[in-house]
Amino acid sequence: MRKIVFVTGNRDKVREVKEILEKKNIEIVQKNLDYPELQEDELEPIASYGARWAADKLNMPVIVDDSGIFIHALNGFPGPYSAFVEKHLGNQKILKLMDGETNRNATFKSVIGYCEPGSEPLVFTGKVEGNIAYVERGTGGFGFDPIFEYHDKTFAEIGDIEKNKVSHRQRALEKFCNWLD
Ligand code: IMP
Repeated sequence: MRKIVFVTGNRDKVREVKEILEKKNIEIVQKNLDYPELQEDELEPIASYGARWAADKLNMPVIVDDSGIFIHALNGFPGPYSAFVEKHLGNQKILKLMDGETNRNATFKSVIGYCEPGSEPLVFTGKVEGNIAYVERGTGGFGFDPIFEYHDKTFAEIGDIEKNKVSHRQRALEKFCNWLD
């Protein structure tokens, strides 16, 4: 079984990445290390910089995951500022911002950054299209899952098993695994 170090402090991401990669015979080892997050309009340079920083710091190959939700009616907000917005505003305030908005389209994006010490980082992007719900629904998942509808159910309603078959994270990891192979 191949082992990969996942640098993150987010236990929910670890749970999902573990479940997705175990099926591919890859064992995930979490390293809870804070890497510097660049302020950028896109997630790719943030993941790329973080992966290189962590690989050089730990002197081992690593992956990082930088994710965000891009709400079309809000011109892509919160996008790369998703973690800050979730922490300081939360889902209820996002729903308030969306009050009266009929265009509910949103894109969930995950960028897996991979880097080996002294090498150039690589990035693998996964996206899933959905809609912003009118109220929070469901008890599974984390973060924006209760307000992100995929078909008729929110990610918090479908639960981890179904989410991990179609999520932005699954799609990014699929690309990463294809590259590994
Ligand atoms: P970051 O990737 O650590 O910068 O986090 C981005 C933000 O998006 C955090 O607030 C996460 O909780 C949230 N987030 C990332 N992935 C997901 C997901 O799969 N579902 C719901 N929220 C997510």
